[in-house]
Order: sequence, then C-alpha cells, then structure tokens
Amino acid sequence: MRSTKGKPVAKRDLPQKICATCARPFSWRKKWARDWESVRYCSDKCRAASQ
Ligand SMILES: [Zn+2]
Repeated sequence: MRSTKGKPVAKRDLPQKICATCARPFSWRKKWARDWESVRYCSDKCRAASQ
C-alpha cells in the first residue's frame, strides 16, 4: 500500500477512527479501502447495534 505521494505506508501509520458504538479505536482495513471515509463502526456487530 502506498500513499498518494508514493511513499510506502507503515502498518503503524494506518489511519484510525473511533467506533461510534463502542468508542474504541480501530485501524484501517483493506476491506474498507473503497469506503474508509464513510466507515463509522469497528465491526458489523457495532454497526448492527447502532441501528
Ligand atoms: Zn465498535
């Protein structure tokens, strides 16, 4: 994985967010590569709990 500037991105530098349900931090995952901007929950379980 590379940033838009072409530099390699270390795993520890992956972007993080706080889960809107459990308030725990979670890191970028490959499955969210397409919609990271809209990800708000750390898991499907938390997503379901919010609805
Ligand atoms: Zn969560």
